[in-house]
Amino acid sequence: MNVYEKLTILTDSAKYDVSCSSSGVDRKNTGSGMGSAASFGICHSFAADGRCISLLKVLFTNSCIFDCKYCVNRKSNDTKRAMFTPEELADLTMNFYRRNFIEGLFLSSGIARNPDYTAELLINTLTLLRGRYQFNGYIHVKAIPGADPALISRLGLLADRMSVNIELPSQESLKLLAPDKSKESILRPMQVIREGIRENCTDIVKYQHAPKFVPAGQSTQMIVGATPDSDYKILTLTEALYKKYSLKRVFYSAYTPVVEHSLLPALESKPPLLREHRLYQADWLLRFYGFSASELLDERTPNFNPMIDPKCNWALNHMERFPMEINKAPYEQLLRIPGVGVRSAKRIVQARKTGVLDFSALKKLGVVLKRAQYFITCGGRSLEGLKVNQNMILRSLLSDREMKMYSTEPRVEQLSLFDVVEPVGTPREEVIKWLGGAI
Ligand code: SF4
Repeated sequence: MNVYEKLTILTDSAKYDVSCSSSGVDRKNTGSGMGSAASFGICHSFAADGRCISLLKVLFTNSCIFDCKYCVNRKSNDTKRAMFTPEELADLTMNFYRRNFIEGLFLSSGIARNPDYTAELLINTLTLLRGRYQFNGYIHVKAIPGADPALISRLGLLADRMSVNIELPSQESLKLLAPDKSKESILRPMQVIREGIRENCTDIVKYQHAPKFVPAGQSTQMIVGATPDSDYKILTLTEALYKKYSLKRVFYSAYTPVVEHSLLPALESKPPLLREHRLYQADWLLRFYGFSASELLDERTPNFNPMIDPKCNWALNHMERFPMEINKAPYEQLLRIPGVGVRSAKRIVQARKTGVLDFSALKKLGVVLKRAQYFITCGGRSLEGLKVNQNMILRSLLSDREMKMYSTEPRVEQLSLFDVVEPVGTPREEVIKWLGGAI
């Protein structure tokens, strides 16, 4: 098999991994337009300075000794297999880089022979790139679950970002669908990376030229919709991962059926993209808006309302906290108003030092009044002529896009397939158990 055949197989096998910022779509050129898009090959990520960079997204091998039921590369799947040598992959990356096709590499792998052997192959590839080719571009590499911590540490000195895919949001789901992976094989590399990053921060302060360890931080990916785990459980785990392992990002991947299996949604079911979208919105609220998972969801309402974004949903369920007086509310409370983002909240705080804000001033500051108008007063007054009741607010808060997505989104009733998984406590208790300690 020549290297281009390998490239075709191994870029295609990598397309289900979304722990970079774009997972790709297929779009053909219409004939009259410009450009086209392919779901595999090149993905995008954001560098530490916020720049969007294109990466060659590829597996080192799609051979795997594990049999994760949701994965196209699992050992029991009859698919064409390929494996690069470190030299082939390093050469290929450099050739693409020199031609300006890519600015970096996103490298993952199936587990060939055993986790240590695979991790060594990745280390050899990255050593060639960083050493022989003096490649200083961005490299995101997957930590191989179950690999020796010393190998994870060596990889961390060669890569900019690392990720360990937690894949499923509960130990029970992991046992059921990825029986070869243990909780330890996933959490141990996360700990090694977290410790490495912490130690590296002090090393860099002491020794100016200390080598950098995973300078762009670590991330993870969770599959959504393959198991009956609720949004509440997913978000509680997300919150705990941010706190406990200082993750940069948690990525959510709407489960795309690739195999027929009695424990998985049917092959014809569509990926729950709207659910994935709501989780990304909620994740944003955790990271930048000061919300906690238990404020957004609870055991009585464990899943997001697909019709409305999580922040509006929270506001509608807490109308007793509104309207907020825009000229007095503290910054943390401004962030809770639908239609007010981080930037506009900062601008409001700044602008009201010099005068009283009215509705037209808010518009100029970037506040989305279509949403915010129902939740605020300016100088003690609501927008003129505004009538407020919950149903009317709900209807007017739905964007055209949300209406369209809601009408085309498949409902996730497939979950009833999974009544074999019994909840073993509240989501918080389960997450504490899953992560082995306080969160
Ligand atoms: S270890 Fe990774 S590549 Fe192998 S079957 Fe599981 S998810 Fe797929």
